[in-house]
Amino acid sequence: MNAHAKPSKLIKGATGDWEVVIGMEIHAQVTSEAKLFSGASTAFGGEANDHVSFVDAAMPGMLPVINEECVRQAIRTGLGLNAQINLTSVFDRKNYFYPDLPQGYQISQYKSPIVGEGEVVVDVGPDEQITVGIERLHLEQDAGKSLHDQHPTMSFVDLNRSGVALMEIVSRPDLRSSEEAKAYVTKLRTILRYLGTCDGDMEKGSLRADVNVSVRRPGEPFGTRCEIKNVNSIRFIGQAIEVEARRQIGILEDGGRIDQETRLFDPGKGETRSMRSKEEAHDYRYFPDPDLLPLTFDQAYVDALAAGLPELPDAKKARFIATYGLSPYDAGVLVAERSSADFFETVARGRDGKAAANWVINELFGRLNKQGLGIERSPVSADQLGAIVDLIGDGTISGKIAKDLFEIVWTEGGDPRRLVEERGLKQVTDTGAIEKAVDEIVAANPDKVAQAREKPTMLGWFVGQVMKSTGGKANPQAVNALLKAKLGIE
Ligand code: ADP
Ligand code: MG
Repeated sequence: MNAHAKPSKLIKGATGDWEVVIGMEIHAQVTSEAKLFSGASTAFGGEANDHVSFVDAAMPGMLPVINEECVRQAIRTGLGLNAQINLTSVFDRKNYFYPDLPQGYQISQYKSPIVGEGEVVVDVGPDEQITVGIERLHLEQDAGKSLHDQHPTMSFVDLNRSGVALMEIVSRPDLRSSEEAKAYVTKLRTILRYLGTCDGDMEKGSLRADVNVSVRRPGEPFGTRCEIKNVNSIRFIGQAIEVEARRQIGILEDGGRIDQETRLFDPGKGETRSMRSKEEAHDYRYFPDPDLLPLTFDQAYVDALAAGLPELPDAKKARFIATYGLSPYDAGVLVAERSSADFFETVARGRDGKAAANWVINELFGRLNKQGLGIERSPVSADQLGAIVDLIGDGTISGKIAKDLFEIVWTEGGDPRRLVEERGLKQVTDTGAIEKAVDEIVAANPDKVAQAREKPTMLGWFVGQVMKSTGGKANPQAVNALLKAKLGIE
């Protein structure tokens, strides 16, 4: 896997080519009403410190109690990542001081995580697929938030997030370009959203990435990595990798060496800055949390969760290709969101799958993007779009009129079939009527007729004129055939 980088992925330095190596630690907030070890709400927003129990505030004597829903979600995610599920795992204390960490430690999992090795298949381009290894997934608590902008001389602490469950998903260093890294996060996000285990909302911080970057000469052993903390958009992940790889190449080409450290990406300046030198695991004094028993469940529990998983994007994509004859690319676009895939299937069921995909991807998605709307808020329903596809399929309207009809349905709504009747949009297939229109255009343009005999590409101009005079309703095949005959073009 990725043993040899394609030449296009290498970065040109002043002294030759370099290869970038990337591994990611993704923090995904578990979809759950309550926190990992307390009953406090995980709702986003609200007043500071509204959602804080005594456990989250680390009052003396409080005991954590595991929330089964978070365990269930972690197992389901592991299954979605084709990963090993560990029937016994251990919660450890990871000790560090932070004003917004009242316990003085984070409850996390270290040596024995709930989920072990897995893998994710990622589409990088229309015809490139990579497999990215997953090293582990563990459950841990989120910290609170320090607020430095509320008062001129004081900082405040908001513990609403304190104790919220996170899944940390650690990849192997299998990624070889910023494109691959972005595609990986996108795919991971899609899987989590299908599973309903994390909403994937990067703007709200539900999904954050720590991006580990190193560079090496192709074929050499891995170089020293730097970790860029808490990158919160897919675009920034790409940018952070590009600038960090460049920075490291610059240092190495000047004869320097890379210090392993934790850095921050500044999107405004387009640079990464050193935050601290990299801490080692022993700095945290990990030890099993004496307040919690090892987490155990049996295989039957896992099997029941596996049986209840929804169809995941890879399976859905394969099915769309096989059932509807779609290209892998189109199928990939459609399955990127479960709601788009469902919408497409409603349109495609019992119809020409390729035509349905074409209308959903090119017309509908195009129009939605222009308006900044998600598929959930599409003014054109799947049934309406299906009716338009039917009207083209049975020859009632031409593709050109269908676009006008789509526009009418988009702005005014209504039953497409009735709209076609009411507004006289039916395609004219009556050859007599079309022939009359053709004859008129030919008679009115003798000079163009002469040109067309020399230059057959002129045919397009005639087709345009006839379509214009019939209000776009003439059957295009019939117009073409008749014109060719009249103009004597082969
Ligand atoms: P730590 O827990 O100290 O952050 P890990 O060994 O768990 O260290 O690795 C963290 C992440 O760094 C993983 O995603 C891994 O793939 C990635 N990684 C490890 N070595 C390298 C390297 N040489 N270059 C880039 N990424 C790396
Ligand atoms: Mg780490």
